[in-house]
Amino acid sequence: MTSAPQTATDSPKKLDVLIVGAGFAGMYLVHKFRKLGYSMLAVDAAPEVGGTWYWNRYPGARCDVESLQYSYSFSEELEAEWEWSEKFAAQPEIHAYRKYVADKFDLRKDMLFNTKVTSAIFNDDTNRWLITTDQGQAFDAKYCVMATGPLSVPLFPKFEGMENFKGKIYHTGKWPQEEVDFSGQRVGVIGTGSSAVQTIPEIAKQTKELYIFQRTANYSVPAQNRPLTEEEKASWKNNFRQLRKKSRTTRVAMLHEFGQKSALEVSAEEREKEYQRRWEKGGTNFGYAYNDIILNEEANKTCADFVRRKIDQIVKDPKTAELLKTQTYPIATKRLCIDTDFYETFNKDYVHLVDVRSNPIERFTENGLTVAGKEYCFDSIILATGFDAMTGAVLNIDIRGKEGLPLKEKWEAGPRTYLGLQVAGFPNLFMVNAPGSPSVFTNMVISIEDSVNWITDCIANIDKQQYQRIEASEQAEEEWVHIVNEAANKTLVPKANSWYLGANVPGKTRVFMPYVGGFDKWLNLIWEIAEKNYEGFELSK
Ligand code: FAD
Ligand code: NAP
Repeated sequence: MTSAPQTATDSPKKLDVLIVGAGFAGMYLVHKFRKLGYSMLAVDAAPEVGGTWYWNRYPGARCDVESLQYSYSFSEELEAEWEWSEKFAAQPEIHAYRKYVADKFDLRKDMLFNTKVTSAIFNDDTNRWLITTDQGQAFDAKYCVMATGPLSVPLFPKFEGMENFKGKIYHTGKWPQEEVDFSGQRVGVIGTGSSAVQTIPEIAKQTKELYIFQRTANYSVPAQNRPLTEEEKASWKNNFRQLRKKSRTTRVAMLHEFGQKSALEVSAEEREKEYQRRWEKGGTNFGYAYNDIILNEEANKTCADFVRRKIDQIVKDPKTAELLKTQTYPIATKRLCIDTDFYETFNKDYVHLVDVRSNPIERFTENGLTVAGKEYCFDSIILATGFDAMTGAVLNIDIRGKEGLPLKEKWEAGPRTYLGLQVAGFPNLFMVNAPGSPSVFTNMVISIEDSVNWITDCIANIDKQQYQRIEASEQAEEEWVHIVNEAANKTLVPKANSWYLGANVPGKTRVFMPYVGGFDKWLNLIWEIAEKNYEGFELSK
């Protein structure tokens, strides 16, 4: 950020748009708004661009969407210049990519770092937002865009006695910037979600003893990560236009081999062969082997059972294998974990799995923690305990809409949006990756790009027509909430106690948050709505 910081005594700085967040979404918003000639600023609590890939630098952090696809598609020059080294890039490479993008498009000059947005208050008379920060600055913007991230508020469970622990506590989602060396240490990991599944094999390479505390067994499939071949890189560079276009016609904004048959219409032998082929190929492609895996319990079980058989084959200790197979939900109804040697790691004699479903963690002590009256002693404990997802970051900001209505109050019974883009009662405020959007079910870079394209196009359009405000109507919002619920209820996804439902946060209202009806459908719909001059939105001068 180039301009001098404001002080509390300055009058609010006038902007066309204030963006909160400088991850994939915030960065692209800056680029787009600048091209449109808008004055804008993106504010981020981090000292650098990157969002997710700035904060989550735990050992083993990688993307689960193939690197070639998990990247921006808006610039042909960028597609041509950037070279991914591996099928699934690791955090340092993804972060380097984001910094490269920031440099290439000179994004930082419209960004303010190390600054948290604390409130955003709408003024009914001026139709503008007053945004304040923890550094005492104030901004007066016609539009405000929340690009605050769906997984940006780490969840720190409150265990009794946590403050007494003499060792170090880390959270995967807020990992220190400097290297952490666990050599020779006794380490405990709490959680077995995607972050844990990625970090456990890496941490196990260093530790003397490693204990993993598992509450819910997860399904994980191998990434089969490897360097990209020169042919693969060249093929992407020659075909990316068609490939990007095609990915936007899928329900997850990602190219996969989408199985066209039901798992139940083929023989058990054929299924086994197909699951095995996909297992060997690696990645989340495994979960798309048949078209009814997340629709039909019986079909789903064929897929889940295959993974359980794999666990039996890989994990030598039968008790550990048994515990790793106690999944309580249908496969692929939480984002499928992909790993490198997760199950294999349990064959190391110093790696132990502890069940904390039947006996939850009781308390932390000076030396470690206790489960079922037994004390486990550690030098370090890693919380791989996830995030207050989708609503956490926006609700950390005191957002007040028309007539001072707090967003917290509006969302008391669960989050509500129109298309995942706007909330009724909050004019000129847009959100990226909000509840009601397909976001977390997709290759998120692509769904982010399309959300940003739509938001920036919408703002440019209504300004051209000299409207002063745009606001989702209550009725359109109500109908969209119904559509989001219906889409989820047609699938097995509500059967998992996942962060999609808010089930991981004590006291959070349980509402299925993402739209699972298909990215392709959503994309067509939002542009149809734009063509109808923003049907379902109220425009006023
Ligand atoms: P973020 O990258 O989360 O950026 C949001 C930014 O907003 C943060 O930098 C945060 O500091 C800032 N912020 C929030 N609140 C405030 C505030 N009040 N004031 C100032 N700043 C604020 N998705 C995929 O599609 N594929 C993957 O492989 C994949 N891997 C993932 C791996 C991990 C470990 C995690 C946690 C998530 C992963 N995701 C993946 C999801 C990922 O979050 C998205 O792909 C994407 O990076 C989100 O970008 P964003 O810009 O919307 O949000
Ligand atoms: P997560 O999936 O929510 O997993 C959190 C883990 O911590 C779960 O095993 C949970 O158990 C456990 N846990 C939480 N509180 C606990 C407590 N009090 N006691 C015991 N266990 C507790 O979080 P995450 O692993 O960070 O992943 C979140 C999302 O980020 C993923 O779904 C994915 O979208 C994204 N992500 C992607 C990748 C990737 O592969 N690219 C990597 C990391 C993250 P329960 O299940 O019982 O609640």
